[in-house]
Amino acid sequence: QPGLYIVATPIGTARDITLRALDILASADILVAEDTRSLKKLLAIHGVPLGERPVWAYHDHSDAGARGSIAAEVAAGRSVAYASEAGTPMVSDPGFDLARAVSEKGGLVTSAPGPSAAIAALTLAGLPTDKFAFLGFAPPKSAARQKAIAAFAETPATLVLYESPRRVQALLADLVTVLGPDREAALCRELTKRFEEILRAPLAELSHALSDRTLKGECVIVVGPPGVREVSEGTLSAALDTALETHSV
Ligand code: SAM
Repeated sequence: QPGLYIVATPIGTARDITLRALDILASADILVAEDTRSLKKLLAIHGVPLGERPVWAYHDHSDAGARGSIAAEVAAGRSVAYASEAGTPMVSDPGFDLARAVSEKGGLVTSAPGPSAAIAALTLAGLPTDKFAFLGFAPPKSAARQKAIAAFAETPATLVLYESPRRVQALLADLVTVLGPDREAALCRELTKRFEEILRAPLAELSHALSDRTLKGECVIVVGPPGVREVSEGTLSAALDTALETHSV
């Protein structure tokens, strides 16, 4: 069927791809990829023949012209499969403008869902999963990053953030500054890969534990929702005294 197929690909282990995604990659008229080399490698691993089919590049810097050409192919009745470098396209990855362009020309946009690091991290972080907010990559500069975190400080949901290993410590420091030291958190590193690692601790402890480590690999930071405000014993007994006094008068 003609259309743009948004195809999720593995985030680490090559076999984490659905049978339907492989069917689509095997049958699409045109393959489009954020990184054409990675897609060709994935096809080779799974024995999907490319044949004479073209593999086009579409990435963050692709312009309206590139989107227009792809949308025109769909409008002409061809099936196009789009894969980003890893995981689900559009989740901190390109594809959004492309899907819009195809849809605006009346083309079908459909999805072959699969892995995403945000969801994999959520399943391993040990934090509530009933409500979560995905913040993507926080801004690289501290002031802007603190502002971005502050916008979600009171959100009653688990927060999921992507970060480059070089900036994880700086991100954790800002999370402690803005959200306080005690919120439960987890670092989920190298998910589905050989050196997968999950560290769970309150924010300040996690920040401290990582302060003298050189982090490598891909990282997701997960932060639990704000807890019930704690009342210290002193404050509680003072409040009780006041309540009793008011009552006995
Ligand atoms: N589209 C991808 C997805 O669905 O997860 C995300 C692409 S984004 C450019 C790359 C970021 O995702 C990394 O910097 C890291 O934060 C996260 N990530 C991707 N793969 C990961 C993995 N195997 N383990 C931990 N984090 C990962």
